[in-house]
Amino acid sequence: MILDTILGWFSKDLGIDLGTCNTLVCVRDEGIVLNEPSVVAVRKGTNIVLSNGLAVGLVARDMLGKTPGSITAIRPLKDGVISDFEITEAMLSYFIRKVHGRSLVAPRVVIAVPSGITAVERRAVIDSAERAGARKVYLVDEPMAAGIGAGLPITEPTASMIVDIGGGTTEVAIMSLADISTCESVRIGGDNFDEALITHLKRTYNLLIGEPRAEQVKIQIGSAAPLEQELTMEVAGRDTISGLPRKIVITSEEIREALREPIAGIIETVMRTLEKAEPELAADLIENGVHLCGGGSLLRGMDTIISNATGLKVIAVEDPLSCVARGTSVYLENLEDWKDTLDQNGYTWD
Ligand code: ADP
Ligand code: MG
Repeated sequence: MILDTILGWFSKDLGIDLGTCNTLVCVRDEGIVLNEPSVVAVRKGTNIVLSNGLAVGLVARDMLGKTPGSITAIRPLKDGVISDFEITEAMLSYFIRKVHGRSLVAPRVVIAVPSGITAVERRAVIDSAERAGARKVYLVDEPMAAGIGAGLPITEPTASMIVDIGGGTTEVAIMSLADISTCESVRIGGDNFDEALITHLKRTYNLLIGEPRAEQVKIQIGSAAPLEQELTMEVAGRDTISGLPRKIVITSEEIREALREPIAGIIETVMRTLEKAEPELAADLIENGVHLCGGGSLLRGMDTIISNATGLKVIAVEDPLSCVARGTSVYLENLEDWKDTLDQNGYTWD
């Protein structure tokens, strides 16, 4: 115990938001020091990671499209589950080494993971972080970290509700007294909006566009609820019939229609969580409202549509992309006090 505290003085403890889209790392008392896409470049058709740190994060993403066809990029957490353990480990290891360097004392690491992952996946995250050089690993459920990052009173005897719309998953949780009372997780997120858009353009206009362009269109003119001033945008792609480049103009109304299905999936998950809530906690939510975070929550009108469906007030948290990472940072600052509660809740293994 005391030894652990002393070791703590000589190592940089880390907090990691292991997202399906983006990984953020913070250092105790220093804040967020790394924010990179959760992407790994591998040799096509294999899971051999390119060597020497040239293969992960920003570097991997920037390599895409500029490399020979033998290299491909993988997002190992794409669907909110760890689809590839080895690649996840390579990614985690790269990020930990990049931040921690070759310090003599290995760091303690707090990792926020989706609450829906299985015990086997939890174990795999811990093993990966240990092999990547962590002295001790603590897992914290993502909605708890998000709640803390958003400054919600999650340790108090009142309900706090978080809807975290990430890239591959949406996590919905109602918390009170530092514990999750009800939670639901669904494998729908911002990336499904991009996919829906791609399908729509292909079906309606025989126009093929890539994921980065679809994301760009979504960010520029996408919406979940009607806009005061509807928007239009020119989109270029390849005609599926002639094979030639072509441009069309699309409207925000049309995109809203195309995104209806994944958005409905998210709303349904929010409703299901509310239906399962303890009555006392449900009552608190009339006062406290619902807090929205994650990159997907930046889609215009997301708050309006959730508020319309639930009848509750919806609050968009500030800087929704870094909310979970900021939460792990608070965990780090209070690790001495909180690690025992993490243990008791079974969130950590030694
Ligand atoms: P994760 O936690 O799963 O890594 P993030 O919280 O980082 O996910 O959110 C990533 C998602 O947010 C992506 O689908 C991205 O397209 C989407 N996103 C980011 N910015 C915006 C924006 N301004 N409008 C709409 N969607 C956005
Ligand atoms: Mg996230």
